[in-house]
Amino acid sequence: MEFFNLRRPSERASFAEAARRGLGSDQGLFHPSAIPTVDAEAALAAPRSARYRTLLSPFLSPDFTPEEIDRMVAAAFTFEAPVVRAGGSFALELFHGPTLAFKDFGARFMAQCLSRIKGDAPMTILTATSGDTGAAVASAFQGAPGIRVVVLYPEGRISRPQEQLFCTIGGNIATVAVKGSFDDCQALVKAAFDDASLASAIGLNSANSINVSRLVAQVLYFWDLCAAVPADSRAGGLVVSVPSGNFGDLTAGLMAKAMGAPISRFVAATNANDTVPRYLRSGRWEPRATVSTASNAMDVSRPSNWPRAERILGDYGWSLDAVSVGEAGTVTALRDLDALGYTGEPHCAVAYDALRRSLRPGEAGAFLCTAHPAKFADAVESVLGRRLPVPPAIAAAMSRRNLSIRMEPDPEKLRAYLLEGAAD
Ligand SMILES: *Cc1c(COP(=O)(O)O)cnc(C)c1O
Repeated sequence: MEFFNLRRPSERASFAEAARRGLGSDQGLFHPSAIPTVDAEAALAAPRSARYRTLLSPFLSPDFTPEEIDRMVAAAFTFEAPVVRAGGSFALELFHGPTLAFKDFGARFMAQCLSRIKGDAPMTILTATSGDTGAAVASAFQGAPGIRVVVLYPEGRISRPQEQLFCTIGGNIATVAVKGSFDDCQALVKAAFDDASLASAIGLNSANSINVSRLVAQVLYFWDLCAAVPADSRAGGLVVSVPSGNFGDLTAGLMAKAMGAPISRFVAATNANDTVPRYLRSGRWEPRATVSTASNAMDVSRPSNWPRAERILGDYGWSLDAVSVGEAGTVTALRDLDALGYTGEPHCAVAYDALRRSLRPGEAGAFLCTAHPAKFADAVESVLGRRLPVPPAIAAAMSRRNLSIRMEPDPEKLRAYLLEGAAD
């Protein structure tokens, strides 16, 4: 499949090229030239691996053969995406991967793609994280031949379980505790990418959420959801609420629907960072300063994937319901889910609250659970008034040694560090 640059439509790239480059020129996002359709009934009835091959093949061919796609799928998706009942709604649990958040889906498939695309050239993945993304990327690329990963994070500003999950891996995964804020970390990453000689010497790649290889992987679980919801339950329409920050997940959902997934409509659920809900009401794009919330992976006021979502909505003539849920609404939703026998966390609580505010009689509702409650144990425990069990992945990580080095927020120091490592 060919992808084109949304900012410069004449710029085209194969899947492999788009995945390797991340962004096109002028910082434009790569977007599929046409979203393929599949035989939905056959895809829903097929076993998961065959369904994934059917869904991925049109995007990845001719760069990858169906056999290669099967191998990539088997290596990346080693965990399930179960659908459980929460009262009358369906909860799609996306947190059963190694770092307990849905970013494992995209990051692990991206690792499979980039390992094959890079050939013999060196590759250094440099990324800044405020928590989840760094862990997912570090875990996904662990042991990838010829790929070095350097993750920057603000020292003392992420939770200890979060830190332990990705700073104890070692090998090709280097973690750097920056003496500064998340913005300082992002500024360091940007300075490295702006340094053309450094970038080409070490094959710099950002592996961030706009990468097409992450996007296509996220399409898959929307189909898993449809396969798990009984056909008679979704006869009156299936509405899916997506907790949204950068809107990559929502874009993948819209792509799944465009491919033929039986989803009648989507609800974009945001926290108080409500640029998109306000935009859909007023027609004006007016990002405000980002505010901190309990659903902190969605504390984004300039969602980077929005141009893709908007493009699909326009191409297909679909409207989108967007609901902003405040902190009090998040707490109430967490409590209400608990009363239904479902332990959530702030991100899924936002999605659940937006869903129930949007759902109309006769519709079936589903919401995405993007993180394991234990990843947000402090917030969940203080609302529910009881302790949560610690999952084995976190317990094991807590006892390992933190291998991070510490660094001042100084681009020269980072440059020297990156070049020195590349010469090893
Ligand atoms: C990243 C993230 C989100 C938001 O996903 P986007 O694709 O950025 O909209 C929601 N929940 C959790 C737990 C996340 O880590």
